[in-house]
This record gives sequence, structure tokens and C-alpha cells, in this order.
Amino acid sequence: MPKPNTSRGPIYLRTAVPAPLSQLFDYLPPPAHNGSAVQPGVRVLVPFGRSNKVAVVVATGTEPGVAAARVRPAIQLLDSLPTVPRPIMRLAQWAADYYAHPLGDVMHGILPPPARLAKPLPSPYPHRWRLAGGDAVAPQSRAPLQSRLLEQLAGAPDGLDADGLAACGGGWRRALAALVDKGLVEVSRHYAPPARFGKAPGGDPPVTPNAEQAAAIEAICTSLDEFGVFALEGVTGSGKTEVYLQVMHQVLQRGCQVLLLVPEIGLTPQLVARVRSRFRYPVAVLHSALTDSERYRAWFAAREGHARVLLGTRSAVFAPLPDLGLIIVDEEHDASLKQQDGFRYHARDLAVVRAQHAGIPAVLGSATPSLETLANAQRGRYRHLRLRQRTGSASFPVLKLVDLKRRPLREGLSEPLLEAARTHLANDDQVLIFINRRGFAPTLLCHDCAWAADCPRCDSRLTLHRGKKKLQCHHCGHSTAVPAQCPDCASEALSPVGEGTERIEAAMRERFPGTPVLRIDRDNVRGRDRLEQVLAQVAAAEPCILVGTQMLAKGHHFPRVTLVGVINADRGLYSVDFRAPEQLAQLIVQVAGRAGRAAKPGEVLIQTHNPEHPLLTLLIDKGYPGFSDAALRERRAAALPPFARIALLRAEANTVAHPSRFLQFVRDTYAAPASAGGVQLLGPVPAPMERMAGRYRAQLLLHSSARRALHDFCKTLRRDLEQHAQSRRVRWSLDIDPQDSL
Ligand code: ADP
Ligand code: ZN
Ligand code: ZN
Repeated sequence: MPKPNTSRGPIYLRTAVPAPLSQLFDYLPPPAHNGSAVQPGVRVLVPFGRSNKVAVVVATGTEPGVAAARVRPAIQLLDSLPTVPRPIMRLAQWAADYYAHPLGDVMHGILPPPARLAKPLPSPYPHRWRLAGGDAVAPQSRAPLQSRLLEQLAGAPDGLDADGLAACGGGWRRALAALVDKGLVEVSRHYAPPARFGKAPGGDPPVTPNAEQAAAIEAICTSLDEFGVFALEGVTGSGKTEVYLQVMHQVLQRGCQVLLLVPEIGLTPQLVARVRSRFRYPVAVLHSALTDSERYRAWFAAREGHARVLLGTRSAVFAPLPDLGLIIVDEEHDASLKQQDGFRYHARDLAVVRAQHAGIPAVLGSATPSLETLANAQRGRYRHLRLRQRTGSASFPVLKLVDLKRRPLREGLSEPLLEAARTHLANDDQVLIFINRRGFAPTLLCHDCAWAADCPRCDSRLTLHRGKKKLQCHHCGHSTAVPAQCPDCASEALSPVGEGTERIEAAMRERFPGTPVLRIDRDNVRGRDRLEQVLAQVAAAEPCILVGTQMLAKGHHFPRVTLVGVINADRGLYSVDFRAPEQLAQLIVQVAGRAGRAAKPGEVLIQTHNPEHPLLTLLIDKGYPGFSDAALRERRAAALPPFARIALLRAEANTVAHPSRFLQFVRDTYAAPASAGGVQLLGPVPAPMERMAGRYRAQLLLHSSARRALHDFCKTLRRDLEQHAQSRRVRWSLDIDPQDSL
């Protein structure tokens, strides 16, 4: 539609309005504005239904999409320059199209909260004051407070912030305002780099890369001016981060910005600290645990080019970076890079698209690359870079299986694991026990009548949390007191069945009195500070035992851990989710990577009832590459992603019948045309957990061997369903490339 306005007719603004509708909406420019200077990416306040909304102009043109008489004027233009710069607009449009998600909702999601308000963008930077015109001589004032302020400012040619002026005495703000009114003092707002910036770089000086690192750095740095994707595969401790840092350094020195995406920043304080201490360039951090104003400041600093490195979680892939020269995705296999509700995008995949648009390299790093990334490497689309050795004297730990069959288990712990723990602790080393379940026990059972504590709102059991003295549902958050007796038969013989972190912690304390036991899970370690505290404790501690969930598997270095125990590998082997084995293998390798990072070799014991399972034996004998080759062959044979494309149409409602009825209707209506286009509809079936938080859920699987075919079908389906009466009875969503619940 964008055409120069050669006719004399009005110019229309085509806008993305925050609403769950795929359609774009046309408006006339606000009264007294001819619209000719409006650029895409500018925000505009428009009347929509009965309210006003902040929309984003996507294009301008001379022909409205609906009858000209129905086009209403916008109320107000909110920006003179685009809030959504061109590359972000392009990425958002690509994403809305690929994920078959309304552009208005995509836009709304990527705007920081202050930009969602009908106001010009505020500066998030602190105020600074200085003498008007850069005077070096303090003008006089008869008011004593004013003259103190003037003197203070005369000594600070770069100006002073509130902290620097407050010393002049109470009431300084009013006195200062008077000086600003008189034109003697100017106020401005400047980027103030985060406090930690500027600290002398310490702790992590650049090292001389080994041969494999040097080859990787060279490969990436010789193609900084073109699009290319590098899959950087290296076991934990092989020096991937060092490769990132050295490549980043070159990019920064060329005057470009770097975007570094990570799955969860809260879990990687060490990475943040390492990036900050390495460079003399300002680093901004963007993630969901920040306050709105902190997030906005980071976003703004990135957009203004003040921050040269942006380290962020998945939504940072949409941050404006005018000088972007490199995108790195760390732990690219991690499922939390995929948004699981609303606009369900995958930040890794969008990072690649963004790099392609910008003509720059993208680096996808992991010790355990996703099968998608490996398939792309095999096809020659991505360049595969490998770091096979651990740096320094550390070697990768030896993995062993502990066959649980017919073995006595005490609190989930086998004798070989306890024995190994004894040996390692006696050597003054640390032990890490991994169990992917919080709480004390996943079930509370009546020994006399077999009553079990179920969640009243979900198809699941309540987890016993002994510390909090609560039964909790890990799916909906429902929480209740622990009953003293069975509600069915009044027996007091209620027994916890199964193990969680709390129970393992208690068992280890009992077995190893005198050895500190630290539990790391979301119940015990909330917030960044607490995690750093615990990590410092571990670093300082003599022999100790760490018990934790996957929080332990990510990012941290525990140089003194030499034994890792995996309590139960069986859950990942028999899941209905076809990605479960991949996730299990990744988790085992990631946890194993925590061990033996210093000079001593590590040992990993994996408890299982299925020691002959091919997945486990491959992983043990051939490592992750052996496993992933076999897993890729299996996926190909089964026509599963990455060798086919899938999407899930999910539906939920308060009644059990509506979701499946709705999905059956979709199937009846679309199966034939879909199949003609090469897309198969499978189901509907109930979701793996049919009832969650009081709602019933079902799903329909869409499968195709061709991306294009699936994509076109999803777009049509979405547009139809938005209009269809059937879809009002349920809450539905379309998930392209779903990562879970199959
Ligand atoms: P990864 O990100 O793969 O886990 P890191 O980059 O964190 O690995 O490296 C692990 C440790 O080894 C870090 O302490 C790092 O400083 C150090 N290191 C990395 N590369 C080298 C090297 N070439 N020589 C010596 N030490 C190195
Ligand atoms: Zn009972
Ligand atoms: Zn529940």
C-alpha cells in the first residue's frame, strides 16, 4: 500500500491496534494533519470500539481497506519519530505472519509499558542540572540557597544530579526550579550507565584461546559483514563463553552493538558479571524480574545506542538496537526461549531471522544443541563449530548408570550413590544431587484406604511441602493445609510417597551429619541476591552437599563438585511428549557439566530402572553427539520435527464437552481442504493434563512435511476462527512449533 500521494485524496494510516484480530485498521490522520509526514512505526491514538487505543502505524497509503466513508480520523499522533524502528517493524511483521498471530498484539507486547500509554516517550534517565550556556562563573543570587546551588554547579561543568545537589540543603528542589525559571540553570537527562559499569575490569581477563576456540573466533569474525548462523557446540567448560566474549569484543570495537540472549538471567548472575567486568562498554540488562522502569531504561539505552551490549531474555530479541552487529543466543536448546502463552514465539528462531534481516552473524551456543539446530547444521544451513575439550586440566566427567531394579532404596537413594558420596566427601570434595521435583513428596497417601491428596482444580496430585507445612499444586498454585488425618477414613496413617528436593535434603542430612547440605530450588532460593548468596556459600564451603532442581543445571560453575547424582532418569524415558528424551539427555549433560570443572575429574551416577534403554546407553558411551545423531534418525523415521512441521490448536473451557466439540468442528470443516494442501489434522485429544486450574483442555495437532503448507493453512484457519461463532464458546490458541504437551 505505501505509495506517494500523487492524487489529491486523503492519506490513510494503516495501523496495528492492540486487539486479538489479525486485521489491520485504517484511520485518517488527526484533524489538522495531512498525514504526509507520518512514518511507519509511529504511535497514534485512535478510537476503537467504545474506547481509545494506542496503535502503531504500519503503512500509509491513498486507498483505504474499507469504504472511505467508514474511515474515522485518528485522535492524536503520539510520536514524531518512530517508536518502533524499521528493523523491529519488519521483525514484528515477520513474526506475526509466521506465528499466525495478530500484529496488533505482537506490537503491543514488544512496546515497553510507558510506550503503551497515550503520551510521548519519557526519558528514563536521571535529571542533571548545569549552568545555562555552560557558564564557568556563577551568576549571583540574593537568596542564600540559590547562591549555594549556583556555586556548586559552577564547580561541575558536566552538571550534577540530584544526589550532587541535595547537599546544598533542604528545599533545594524548589530553589533549583526558581533558577531554571530564571534561565540561569539548564536541565537535561543523560544516560547513566549502571553502577557496576566502570569498575576496574577484574577477575576475568581475556585468555589466549586454544586451537578450537581460535578457529571458532576466526570463523565468526571473518564474516561479520554478512548473515550467517554458527552453531557453537561445546561441553560445559569448553570455553564457549570465552568465544562469545572475544567475538563481542571485536564487534564492539567496530562500533557495533551486541545482543546476547539467555534463557533466564536470574539463573546466570555469573554471566552478567563476567560480561560487565570484561568490557569498558556499557552493558544493559533486560529481563522480567526487573521493575517496569528498569526495563524501560534498558530498552531506551539500547534504542538510543547508549548501551553497547544488551543482555536479555527472550523478549529482548525485539529490542531496538540501531547499530546491531551480532546476536548470540546462549543455551539455545533451552525451552524457556519459547514463549508459552499469548504470542508464542521462539526467541532463538527470531534471532536468526533478525540477523538475516540485518545481514549480520548469529551464534547459537550450547553444550547440548537442539535437534532443530543440529538438523540445520547437517543440511549445511548453519555452520557447525565444535569445542571438544574442556579448557585447562579439567576433563569431562565419567557417566555411569546405577541399575535400581531389586535394589533397596532409602528415600530414593541407592547404596552405590551413597557410597560414592561418602568417598567424595571424605576426599574433601563437594557432591551435587539433582532431582527435578520440588517439595518433600509428590503424593500424600492414606495407608489404610488409599485416599490421595488431589488438586481440586487439576488432574494432578498435591505436593507435600514439609517446610511450609502445606500441600501445593505445582500446576495451578492451589495450596492447602496438611490434614492431620485422612478425610475419607480418619486414619492418621498418611504417608508421603515419592521424593522431592526437600526429602533428599533431609535424607542427606541424616546420612551425613556434620556435612552442610544446601538446597537450591525455587522454594528455597528466591531472587537473584539469595542465589548469589547461596553460590558464595558453596564457593566458600568445605565439603558440602548440594541438592537441587534444574536451577542447578544452568550456568553456574561449581569447581569443587566432583560427584553428581541424578536421582531418577526414568520420567524422561516414557513421557508421551516426543521431546522428552531430548530434554532428558540435555539435562543430564548439563548437570554432569557441573562436575569436575577444576583439576579433579568428576563422576556422574544416574539412577534408573532402565539401564539398557538405548537413549541412556548411547549417551553414556558416545556422549551427546552420539545421542543426538540417533535421536535425529528417529525423528526422521517418525516424520517428527525438525523433519516435519507441526502446530497445535489448543482449546479450553469450563465444561469438558466444549473444547473437544470445538476442535471436532474444526476437524470436520477443515480436514479435507487441509489434506488437499498437504496438512494433516490429528485428534482432537484431551491435553496431557485435561483439567488444569478448573478448566478443561483439548488439542488438535496440525502436521505437514512442508513449512509453507502448514503456514498457509494456519493463517487461513486463524482468520476464519476469529470470525466464527463456534470459537466464542472456548478459549483457543494456535501454537506454531510447540515445545511441549504433545
Ligand atoms: P563454557 O562457557 O563453555 O562453560 P567458559 O568460557 O566459561 O566455558 O570457560 C570455562 C573456564 O575456562 C572459565 O573460567 C574460562 O575463563 C576458562 N577458559 C576459557 N578458555 C580458556 C583458555 N583458552 N585458556 C585458559 N582458560 C580458559
Ligand atoms: Zn484413608
Ligand atoms: Zn492444581
